[in-house]
Amino acid sequence: MGCLVNRSGARRLREEVQSQERGEVLTRAILRHFDDLHSLDLPLDFEIEKYMLEDGRLALENDTSRLNFEKIATFTPSSASKCRRELFFRACKVEPEPQAFFPFQRRWMRNGTAVHAAIQKDLLYAEKYLSNPKFKMARTDQGRPAWEKNIRQVKQFEHRGVKFQIYGMMDGVLLYVPDNSKIGLEFKTKSTTVSAVGTYKLKDAQESHRDQCTAYSLLFGLNEFLVVYESLAKDNWTKNEEARPDMRAFYVETGDYERGLLLDKFAEVAESYYNGEVPGGDPSKCIFCPYKTRCIKEAA
Ligand code: SF4
Repeated sequence: MGCLVNRSGARRLREEVQSQERGEVLTRAILRHFDDLHSLDLPLDFEIEKYMLEDGRLALENDTSRLNFEKIATFTPSSASKCRRELFFRACKVEPEPQAFFPFQRRWMRNGTAVHAAIQKDLLYAEKYLSNPKFKMARTDQGRPAWEKNIRQVKQFEHRGVKFQIYGMMDGVLLYVPDNSKIGLEFKTKSTTVSAVGTYKLKDAQESHRDQCTAYSLLFGLNEFLVVYESLAKDNWTKNEEARPDMRAFYVETGDYERGLLLDKFAEVAESYYNGEVPGGDPSKCIFCPYKTRCIKEAA
């Protein structure tokens, strides 16, 4: 018995070390990928530029006809870490309360969106202009880059006897060229100071972003993810090679355990949705919740 425990413990340890090594290789590779690209004096590539415009036009068409929606409780990856009560309100399509933003906050959000678009273009330039790119964009059956609306989908689940579906899209699916494996890419921006992505403040992918990867794993059948953070604030221009890093990357591997926890959570909320019983709230998650007034009414 003791021998069996030792053996399974040793196997787990070996797997952890392998995962850590793989993570280090991949995170180094993706940061190098962007740094190598951003070290080049790139030409304006009309083929890529036109392609991006066409991709944007197709995204605006917002064609959902090929998606197989059912009239059941629906969850999205980006809300995977939200409080159960908020997920319930979302599933019930409760109108969110209008959010008041200061102008600087709207510019903050606008800058994040713009850098997301820039990163997509960077990925196409990188696979074309780097001499030995470690990553390429995966392509859909239609030959389009595997990102955003090109890959959005809805998938039904039945867990613990409860039906629900997950609907969403992700920032991208990369092909890691050395072994041709598919890696999910999640890109996040930070807008405060460059230290927001420093080793002191950012020690690992944020929990909510890990949960998001788990939901992607359920939806897209991927197990490995790279969560890349870029600070929109940079160090002083004159710092040159002494500049603090403005980009960090973390490897997230999802397994049955993580997927099981998320399925449990979604199934619990879906059950509340079908029973019409509002689940308990989590006061630690209220800051960005657009249902605060409704939530207080429920608690009264
Ligand atoms: S206000 Fe807080 S507790 Fe209520 S639904 Fe929103 S996140 Fe949950």
